Amino acid sequence: MGWTARLVGAAMAALIVATPALADALIDNVDGIALDRDGKVIHFTGLLLTPEGRITKLLGDHDKRPDKLDWRTDMHGKVMLPGFIDAHGHIMDLGFRSMEVDLSDTHSLAEAKAKIAAYVAANPDRKWIIGGGWNQELWGLGHFPTAADLDSVVSDRPVVLDRIDSHAVWVNSAAMKAAGITASTKAPAGGQIVDGVFVDTAKRLIEKALPQPLARERDVAFIKAQQLLLSNGITATDDMRTTLPDWLTIRRAGDAGNLRMRIVSYADSIETANLTAGNGPSPWLYDGKLRMVGVKVFADGALGSRGACLKAPYADDPKNSGSCLLSDDQLRNTMSRAAMDGFQVAVHAIGDKANAEVLSAIDALSDTYKGDRRWRIEHAQIVDPADLPKFAEHGVIASMQPIHAVSDMHMAEARLGPDRLAGAYAWKSMLDNHVPLAFGSDYPNDDFNPFHGWAAAFTRQDANDLPFGGWQPQQAITREQAWRAYTQGAAYASFSEEQYGTLAPGEWADFIIVDTDPTFASPGQLRNIKVEQTWVGGRMMWARGQGQGDADRGGDTR
Ligand SMILES: [Zn+2]
Repeated sequence: MGWTARLVGAAMAALIVATPALADALIDNVDGIALDRDGKVIHFTGLLLTPEGRITKLLGDHDKRPDKLDWRTDMHGKVMLPGFIDAHGHIMDLGFRSMEVDLSDTHSLAEAKAKIAAYVAANPDRKWIIGGGWNQELWGLGHFPTAADLDSVVSDRPVVLDRIDSHAVWVNSAAMKAAGITASTKAPAGGQIVDGVFVDTAKRLIEKALPQPLARERDVAFIKAQQLLLSNGITATDDMRTTLPDWLTIRRAGDAGNLRMRIVSYADSIETANLTAGNGPSPWLYDGKLRMVGVKVFADGALGSRGACLKAPYADDPKNSGSCLLSDDQLRNTMSRAAMDGFQVAVHAIGDKANAEVLSAIDALSDTYKGDRRWRIEHAQIVDPADLPKFAEHGVIASMQPIHAVSDMHMAEARLGPDRLAGAYAWKSMLDNHVPLAFGSDYPNDDFNPFHGWAAAFTRQDANDLPFGGWQPQQAITREQAWRAYTQGAAYASFSEEQYGTLAPGEWADFIIVDTDPTFASPGQLRNIKVEQTWVGGRMMWARGQGQGDADRGGDTR
């Protein structure tokens, strides 16, 4: 720096000193409940913020409030909690799903058909009928639905419906025709075609024919998804498999000042990661609201569609052990390429064999890629108990979804049989083995209300308190441990623990106002907790009854 620059610098410094420091802001009279860094419940009654929206201090009843405040608001004793963090979701899928036909609440094929027919009638201009959320297990069908089932409802337009786990699509004859599928079309390796249902890699045959959404449709979908997440008390999320168009959509929202929550992206490929972030994770953009930090890799499919890669055959399909999508070498090469550029690697692994392969790949790569890598395994649903200690050896994060245990329990027992459930959805075993646990929901593939997931994590019961005593109850964790995984654990999983997750000084003031104290609520009460306000960076971004907040500090300002 030359002397002129130094002089200007000195003048600037003098200027800053001469300006009276901006006073803090205070959110007062709250029933504040959070966890400290050791996971213990703490209480506070006021939150002091910097003008930028970072936390200066948590105040107790007896702490004196500063005299000079830039701004203050009175919460009238309402319950304040740290915002939830969903460690695994698909933000654009959530947005599109909210605009498409949603079958996730249907309980029979007949009900699904009626819902599709109603949607088709209500959307006469849609050239393609797109949707998802179906689960033949919930329909008691015993097999996949067929193209003929769909043809009986819609024959003039293509229909493409994603299974609840996104590992299969169900289509009608018009869709197959549009995609050029004939009776002689063979499923690619790692996929299956079953009478109108395209499983795992076979999905590509259909998806390549789908019309691409327009930029403005993507923008609408993003805003819808953001609204849904904020209204459920989620202030930050990891976005898994961010594509280039996804990233550009979020950037457009950020450029327009419409980014209201924090998103950490895991690219769908190393190419996307390089194109968006360069040779390594991006900086935080838009006041800490967006960052590209890693790459998502797939090791196998899902349990429901029997695509999860197992060490022994499926109990209900003895000739099938699922499919590991990459060879050992391919998996290592992909992970190595991402790690070489300093990107974090998050690998989807559901079956015990897939988990073992990823763990051994991490073991092999750890000699080369040292330091704080925070390798992540997404889902880690079925882990051979013998492999559990390997997580802690390299600090591998288990990024799991508690709500999956209650939505999957009957299916998982059918797929695995009773003897192989010891390492299934094994949150307690993970913690006992000192594995960092991060919770999320895998939205839109499952219910993303964090209070539902939280209750599932310590009860192992569904919304009807079933089964009695909980499913595999030895894997239940405590209420506080579950809360921690949904906040601090999820923040740690994306290298964001200094930004959010604890409501500690220095972090962003990302919090929610709710109607009930979750630490004393029964599981039923906990599931019913309503979020009243969602604040991100000290600004109200959503309030019940007002729809989208005005991105301003609400309350009685002065
Ligand atoms: Zn996912």
